[in-house]
Amino acid sequence: MAKYTICLIEGDGIGHEVIPAARRVLEATGLDLEFVEAHAGYEYFLEHGESVPEATIEKVMATDATLFGAATSPSKKVEGFKGAIRYMRRRLDLFANVRPAKSHPVPGSYENVDLILVRENTEGLYVEQERRYGDTAIADAVITKRASQRIGEYALKLAQRREKKKLAVIHKANVLPVTQGLFLNTIMDEAKNYPDVQSYDVIVDAAAMHLVRNPASFDVLVATNLFGDILSDLTAGLVGGLGIAPSGNIGLEHAVFESVHGSAPDIAGQGVANPTATVLSAAMLLDHLGEHDMARKLENAVDQVLLEGPRTRDLGGTAGTQEFTDALIRCIK
Ligand code: ATP
Ligand code: MG
Repeated sequence: MAKYTICLIEGDGIGHEVIPAARRVLEATGLDLEFVEAHAGYEYFLEHGESVPEATIEKVMATDATLFGAATSPSKKVEGFKGAIRYMRRRLDLFANVRPAKSHPVPGSYENVDLILVRENTEGLYVEQERRYGDTAIADAVITKRASQRIGEYALKLAQRREKKKLAVIHKANVLPVTQGLFLNTIMDEAKNYPDVQSYDVIVDAAAMHLVRNPASFDVLVATNLFGDILSDLTAGLVGGLGIAPSGNIGLEHAVFESVHGSAPDIAGQGVANPTATVLSAAMLLDHLGEHDMARKLENAVDQVLLEGPRTRDLGGTAGTQEFTDALIRCIK
């Protein structure tokens, strides 16, 4: 048996291009890996009436980690459809959404950014409890001490392993002292167990400004679901945009890594998708398995190819997925 088994889910659109590219890169590492393929997403739903079959859940559970391509979110409501990633997050209790933002040698990237945003993945406004009374609409935001404590603990442990050892707790407790206050106070209490981590709180609107004006001052950030969603697109924008932003959905038992971008239907099937975000997600996956040296090697190869070319179209170049991936593989070998 191979040392690690990895579940690959192409999903929709450019997922069919970026996952095979990332697989070639993983194969080029020379690590002892075995791949298991599984299905999920909107295309699968249209054919089979469900977005994530039970067989996929079983494969995610049976393997050491999963790499997901992309899932389409239809713009209008489709009867019976559940977003694949959101379903997996809940079903597999992947409570931490981890989104690193590191400077890259591409146009528009700030320099000296090296931060990780940790977004609580299971509650907040994403409990999707909305209702309407005449002309009034109400949405619930659920915050629990348990979920706040475990996301806080995850973020603190992460900060502890890093050089700067700083944790910014992002909140709006000044306006929402009950819900946001519970999140903030629970994490600040937990932080007392990590005296080597410098923990401090930042109100979300101020955090948005500081992230744009001085992103290099941040290390690890932790936020509730919606604030984390918004700020993580901002942090992706700081370092070169969607085509290169990776992420991980991490629980105590399972982990699913995926690019931040969607299925990019406008360019799907053309062989021009940039696989960088998926390759960097694969590097996060290797980190998760404890293969830190190889993870750094992948990241360094990505930066070298981004610097020297060939570049894909979204970054101003002319290379297709294949040509870019070939260059990455030459760099790794
Ligand atoms: P979805 O519903 O799946 O989220 P979307 O229409 O929102 O689809 P995104 O995937 O979020 O599309 O992409 C937004 C834009 O960025 C699109 O124009 C897309 O072509 C581009 N884009 C996204 N990912 C990549 C990539 N990996 N390589 C090149 N361009 C990309
Ligand atoms: Mg999108």
